[in-house]
Amino acid sequence: ARQFTRPLNDLANQFNTLLSAVAGAERVFEVLDEKEERTDEMDAITLTDVKGNVEFRNVAFSYEDEGDTVRNLSFKANQGEMIALVGPTGAGKSTVINLLSRFYDPDSGEILIDGYDNKKITRESLRMSMAFVLQDSYLFKGTIRENIRYGRLDATDEEIEEAAKKANAHSFIEKLPLKYDTVLEQDGSGISHGQKQLLSIARAILADPKILILDEATSSIDTITELAIQEALDQLMEGRTSFVIAHRLNTIQKADQILVLKDGEIIERGTHQSLMDDKGFYYKLYNH
Ligand code: ATP
Repeated sequence: ARQFTRPLNDLANQFNTLLSAVAGAERVFEVLDEKEERTDEMDAITLTDVKGNVEFRNVAFSYEDEGDTVRNLSFKANQGEMIALVGPTGAGKSTVINLLSRFYDPDSGEILIDGYDNKKITRESLRMSMAFVLQDSYLFKGTIRENIRYGRLDATDEEIEEAAKKANAHSFIEKLPLKYDTVLEQDGSGISHGQKQLLSIARAILADPKILILDEATSSIDTITELAIQEALDQLMEGRTSFVIAHRLNTIQKADQILVLKDGEIIERGTHQSLMDDKGFYYKLYNH
């Protein structure tokens, strides 16, 4: 689970450069939007009321010319469902996310959002429909308040605090000497890994997207923060279609669908219980 974090880091770097160059985050978005506008298809549509139905139809993709990285990917995620992507390293989990979020386009097949081919949707409206909570939460140099506000630029201070409360972040923020005005470095030094995740969750709550992309943290987080994260994530996922890259299989037992990937293909799918009953690859992974 690494590839799709790269464009985001680039974006964060871009933000830093731009933030120091111009005043106000709104301006940053304008600059990015101008850049993105050009790459939309001529007849791209703006999706306003996204429901969060996602479908992959026989999708294949390769990063390089030879051999497919992923192939025959077909699945449906209905509005509000939790979809877990599991499988060994290199199986293609991050690639699925790269395609869903349009960092790359499929070589063949289609990806539909609410029935619309995602290539025919403006990048702006795609971006508005999704939020990411990644294991390496991307922060930019700025205050905690600004970092959360990035989820929705016109949010008031009250809304930011409200989101931080829902994300279980408010209490740790309040303990910092400068509270919401604490300045973070881009690497988030000064706060813990788990706290970075809580900020990232607060940002996602503020963004209020219909599609969520979660990459579980693998690095060690203390138990209390981990509980706070899990609780905040449960709250965040409620009513949204969420794609979870799962590294530890115990957190996805409540998933509506588990897609088991191996060598770029979905080799098994089902609920935790049905996959356990099948006693196949997932069963082996789980008992490992
Ligand atoms: P992990 O659990 O280790 O993150 P993953 O299941 O997310 O793995 P992917 O990152 O999707 O797997 O990688 C699928 C395959 O594509 C791997 O063989 C990987 O080396 C390759 N790959 C990923 N990104 C690129 C890239 N940018 N260029 C070329 N090959 C890539």
